[in-house]
Amino acid sequence: MTLEQAQAWGATGDHSPLMNNYGSPPRVFVRGRGTELWDKEGRRHLDFLCGLAVTSLGHAHPVVTAAIAAQAATLTHTSNLFANEHQAPVAERISELVAAGQGQVLFQNSGAEANEAAIKLARKYQGRGRHVVLSALRSFHGRTLATLAATGQPEKHEPFQPLPEGFRHVVFDDVSELEKALGPEVGAIMLEAVQGEGGVNPANDGYLQAVREICDERGILLIMDEIQTGFGRTGEWFGYQHSGIVPDIVTLAKAIANGVPVGAVWARDDVAACFGPGDHGSTFAGQALALCAARATIDSYIAMDAPAVVQSKEAKIRARLADVVGVDHVRGRGLLLAIELTAESRAGRTGAEIARGCLDEGLILNGITPTALRIAPPYTVTDDEIDEAVAVIAKVLEAA
Ligand SMILES: *Cc1c(COP(=O)(O)O)cnc(C)c1O
Repeated sequence: MTLEQAQAWGATGDHSPLMNNYGSPPRVFVRGRGTELWDKEGRRHLDFLCGLAVTSLGHAHPVVTAAIAAQAATLTHTSNLFANEHQAPVAERISELVAAGQGQVLFQNSGAEANEAAIKLARKYQGRGRHVVLSALRSFHGRTLATLAATGQPEKHEPFQPLPEGFRHVVFDDVSELEKALGPEVGAIMLEAVQGEGGVNPANDGYLQAVREICDERGILLIMDEIQTGFGRTGEWFGYQHSGIVPDIVTLAKAIANGVPVGAVWARDDVAACFGPGDHGSTFAGQALALCAARATIDSYIAMDAPAVVQSKEAKIRARLADVVGVDHVRGRGLLLAIELTAESRAGRTGAEIARGCLDEGLILNGITPTALRIAPPYTVTDDEIDEAVAVIAKVLEAA
């Protein structure tokens, strides 16, 4: 578009002040409480996506809300030239849940930044020549240049080439394919326990155990991206815990502060020790306002025993969905589930179109593949809300 064309287009009145990065969002939400969300027109919705596995305690959770309000009235930000009273307690809780108190934590502001920091940490630890990060096809690790390079979706790479070098992709959940791609230049393997954006694909426990052994034998760092799966979402505190392994580096974000932007990298002690002053940093990361939300959120997850709650809600949802005509199968773990639909029930509609049909009935979920829906409800979802959501899905499928 030329400058003249751009100006003429702006003059027509349909020029948006926002870049067209997210298409045309179908709703403007103004208020939330628990699983419920109300839009500008006052219409009630059930949020079975949780802002993409973020608001796992539900919207406007009273404990988190009170903590944020009190902190905002006290102290928001001081920079990383100084510490605040939340950093050490939040880091201790993360280390406790990740690896029984071992290791150290670095705070970031988002998932991509947490992965970016993990990649830098692995490079510094392994040194030049051992800098290659192996990750899986269909993985999702973020949108910055390095995390996009780690993301195993070549179609997302194309418009942004050349990407940083040192990234290689292998078929997910296949040990022999992974072994074929190894070499002395591979310093880290980065994986999701359940591929979230890639279609809700859980890794077999045996796969992660085999990858752990390969990493031990060859001195490769195992980075688990727990950004979508962390903090109880899969029915364990972290997705890798289903397979009984302990990674060398774990990256966290999404549910860590129930909607306030916080990311974090955990690393085992000797790996963490290779970051010194000046190696990495971020103006906002670890600030008091963000971390007070993380602290209240993690404490609430611990108090409610989030993994146990998630397991029981998962059982209820699976039992209800088993009775819905048109559901081929349900896959995933905990409250991160994909509902695979039969061809008859889709009747030519894509997952995204069926998700849109559900939205029109007041239920928020998303089409994660052309043939499947993803749900990630809050841990606080009630049995009545589960019944209501499943009834909407059944109704939209029946409309075929
Ligand atoms: C969402 C996500 C990211 C990126 O997090 P942002 O906060 O959007 O940068 C990275 N990895 C996984 C597995 C994710 O689900």
